[in-house]
Amino acid sequence: MSDSNLRKDCLIIGGGLSGLVAAVQLQSQGATVKVLDKGRGIGGRLATRRINIPNSGEGIFDYGAQYITAQGETFQSWLENWRQLKLVEEWNCEAKTEAEVKQPKYRGVKGIRDVAKSIASDLDVQTGTKVVSLQRHQDSWRVFDEEENQYESDSVILTAPLPQSLDLLKSSQIPLSDAAWEQLSGVSYRMCLAVLLMVSDPILMPYAGGYQVKGEKLDWIACNHQKGISPHGYAVTLQGTHHFSEQHYPKPLRDIAIQELIAAARGYLGNVTVIEYQGHFWRYSTPIDRFPEPFFTVIDSLYLAGDGFVSGEESVSSLEGAFLSGWEVGNFVVFSQGIA
Ligand SMILES: Cc1cc2nc3c(=O)[nH]c(=O)nc-3n(C[C@H](O)[C@H](O)[C@H](O)COP(=O)(O)OP(=O)(O)OC[C@H]3O[C@@H](n4cnc5c(N)ncnc54)[C@H](O)[C@@H]3O)c2cc1C
Repeated sequence: MSDSNLRKDCLIIGGGLSGLVAAVQLQSQGATVKVLDKGRGIGGRLATRRINIPNSGEGIFDYGAQYITAQGETFQSWLENWRQLKLVEEWNCEAKTEAEVKQPKYRGVKGIRDVAKSIASDLDVQTGTKVVSLQRHQDSWRVFDEEENQYESDSVILTAPLPQSLDLLKSSQIPLSDAAWEQLSGVSYRMCLAVLLMVSDPILMPYAGGYQVKGEKLDWIACNHQKGISPHGYAVTLQGTHHFSEQHYPKPLRDIAIQELIAAARGYLGNVTVIEYQGHFWRYSTPIDRFPEPFFTVIDSLYLAGDGFVSGEESVSSLEGAFLSGWEVGNFVVFSQGIA
């Protein structure tokens, strides 16, 4: 085991929207915060990828969250700030849910991951760090990553998709009451196979390049060129329905599933040639049921948060739910741990 033994006021596991917002809240009130994320980059499901193809340009793909909507005042004010910073702008794509039909929808100007990068700009975020266990040690927590590095902290907030956080509690032998297990493990997520396609020519789609197909296999198609984030490459994102993605979750089925999604998108793609494709399987994409509180306190200074939790307004989007969860757990830890 390494000698690194960092004393931090708060460790946040997960650098998606919820974890980053919690970190900003805590740091702005004087806490020392460190965010650990297993991914190569930050943002979690605020995900943008570049694919460079010699002679065919560079494709830039949003392949997780497609757009941002805000119902509540707090998230609206953050969104407005991102708009003023020219990180986001309005996008007239089709709405994915009834609740979003009348709401303005925003896209990242250069890709949605930039929003996460901006929130994290003054934070201590360590990527490429997968947390594998937690231990209570006297008044603090010891957190271990898969390289056996150890981090020590007064409090810990877990913001991975809820089933992954529950696995972490289980493997760390941290007890929860039967009632809490039952309720927390009732939170479920849709699966989503995303396909990133570089194509030879522009395609023209309705709704400014973002269209809810609602087919049996294909749920959503976005032309990132038309959307405005991929000026030098014809980059198209396809998203499979939950049912189709779930059926093709086993790894040997995924390439077949990618071909089927491309075939299902042909009507929108026209005669363009597919130059390259990549698949990304989201085991947890958007929550189906959410825990009816903004976060959950496991034991005094260990918390669960993320988009599996929702406070008050059931119809807020997944991103707004993640934001509110991070915001509320951050505020709670500030006061309950006597930081402010
Ligand atoms: C395909 C797709 C389309 C979507 N479209 C929309 C949309 O249009 N609008 C909308 O509102 N929402 C959409 N969503 C949902 C939205 O992206 C999520 O609700 C939101 O980003 C979740 O944020 P989060 O912080 O809760 O979780 P995440 O963004 O998943 O962040 C959790 C982080 O925890 C990290 N992590 C997990 N386990 C560990 C570990 N053991 N150690 C260290 N780090 C760990 C992960 O790497 C990840 O970065 C979409 C999601 C997907 C996948």
